[in-house]
Amino acid sequence: MAVTRTFSIIKPDATRRNLTGAVTKMLEEAGLRVVASKRIHMTREQAEGFYGVHRERPFFNDLVSFMISGPVVVQVLEGEDAVKRNRDIMGATNPENAEPGTIRKELAESIEANSVHGSDSDENAKTEISFFFSDDEIVG
Ligand code: UDP
Repeated sequence: MAVTRTFSIIKPDATRRNLTGAVTKMLEEAGLRVVASKRIHMTREQAEGFYGVHRERPFFNDLVSFMISGPVVVQVLEGEDAVKRNRDIMGATNPENAEPGTIRKELAESIEANSVHGSDSDENAKTEISFFFSDDEIVG
């Protein structure tokens, strides 16, 4: 299995509850290495751009407001089959449907405030990584 990269966000509900370390520990225990990380407060324009694919969805405005309601930690994660590995440890979008032991089951508050974002394909991972990081910020 190839070593690949994916993009992760620790969302405002998690930073607010001081869960940056707890989330990162679960990512690391799942075999993912944090090769870039920074704490930022997204602007509305950044959040709207990042979630542009969801612009027509009914939850878009609430999602953008939530994502700018506090700081987030954006990360690049590296590991074998990183996109799938991360999606597996994240759990289902709605924490009520997430498997025990996943980040969303153990830590998330709701379908919106679900603690983490993770890219859903290698192609999207590349786009999302370059949305927030320059090459020299990523140290493998
Ligand atoms: N979301 C929401 N309501 C919904 C579906 C999604 O608020 O009914 C939010 C939630 O924060 C989710 C994000 O929108 O993580 C992106 O949705 P997506 O379907 O891409 O889920 P994910 O890939 O994050 O599991």
